[in-house]
Amino acid sequence: MIKQLDLSAHDSGLREEILHKVQQVFETQQFVLGCFVDEFERACEAYLDVRHAVAVASGSDALYLSLMAMGIKRGDRVITTPFTFFATVSAITRLGAFPVFVDIEPDTFNIAGKGIEQALKRHRGIKAILPVHLYGRSADMEAITGLAKEYGVRVVEDAAQAFGARCVLDHGFRKAGTVGDAGCFSFYPTKNLGAAGDAGMVVTNDDRIAGLLRMLRVHGSPERYLHTHPGINSRMDGLQAAVLSVKLGHIERWNHTRMELARRYTEMFRDRGLDRVITLPEVPEDATHIFHQYTIRVRDRDTLREALRKDGIGTEVYYPIPLHLQPVFRYLKYRKGSFRQAEVAAQQVLSLPLYPELSEDQQREIVDALQRHL
Ligand SMILES: *Cc1c(COP(=O)(O)O)cnc(C)c1O
Repeated sequence: MIKQLDLSAHDSGLREEILHKVQQVFETQQFVLGCFVDEFERACEAYLDVRHAVAVASGSDALYLSLMAMGIKRGDRVITTPFTFFATVSAITRLGAFPVFVDIEPDTFNIAGKGIEQALKRHRGIKAILPVHLYGRSADMEAITGLAKEYGVRVVEDAAQAFGARCVLDHGFRKAGTVGDAGCFSFYPTKNLGAAGDAGMVVTNDDRIAGLLRMLRVHGSPERYLHTHPGINSRMDGLQAAVLSVKLGHIERWNHTRMELARRYTEMFRDRGLDRVITLPEVPEDATHIFHQYTIRVRDRDTLREALRKDGIGTEVYYPIPLHLQPVFRYLKYRKGSFRQAEVAAQQVLSLPLYPELSEDQQREIVDALQRHL
């Protein structure tokens, strides 16, 4: 039995160190924000090379509060992708703003620069672009920030699946999340840097935005019982920060391992000529894809998935229904056919097991099984 994601081996090696730190949380009673959260924020700033890291309660809140800090309000429009997790888009709609979807590029699954430019020309009231670094692959931030500057709109990155990935810019690399006006991370347990519960983070190089975010996460309150902004309760727990501080020390190695495993999958598939029947993800050499997911495309996806399940191999579909076709967004009046690439991707994508502890034997077993069923 090979699960799509197995966290038991992942955490066991660090358990003692984590529990020791958790014990310190109880001893100091720093349960909400406090010194462990401060420590984790400073460590993230150093690792990501960004001025401010503001810890919040989830990745969803990170997105919502970032847009709020940018001044996005009722009736505004925000460009984003229809091929993402629900929270990317609900962050927009919860503020009364409207998503303007732009279709994805078929090879990277990320929104296409060309489509963004068309949307910027066509629609009034666009205030921000919200790209997603899907599956751990960084979106084309060079094109996106260029367009944002040209049209005077903000950029908020959804980096929930891309902690530690790099973005290519003309003057070199920057870590995903630190290129736009703000970047959002999720530490949900299944993410490549996962907590022991819900947690999230916003990073920014803008002092003013950071100040706003620090206030918005505590009920819009600059000092006790004074409320100047309509904020919410979205604070990171000390326990989550303690767990994350320990794990942060290993993220570089884990991401590196993910990339090696991806390379090995691709090699194994090619060796058997399977790259003619399935579309493999490109494996860049420059860490612009940290393989949060290794996602292939296949024609008869659901049949293959069921056959693999019977062989004891877990897979996942991220995501089976694009956001423009979700019942909750019917009022946006998009239709089937509105975003063909996202719709085709939703029918074809299959994410294979991939986590740092996955062994070569397990990978071979998975590739063998795929070969049997294709
Ligand atoms: C996980 C995820 C989120 C939401 O993060 P939570 O911590 O679960 O709230 C947002 N966007 C993307 C792309 C995600 O994968």
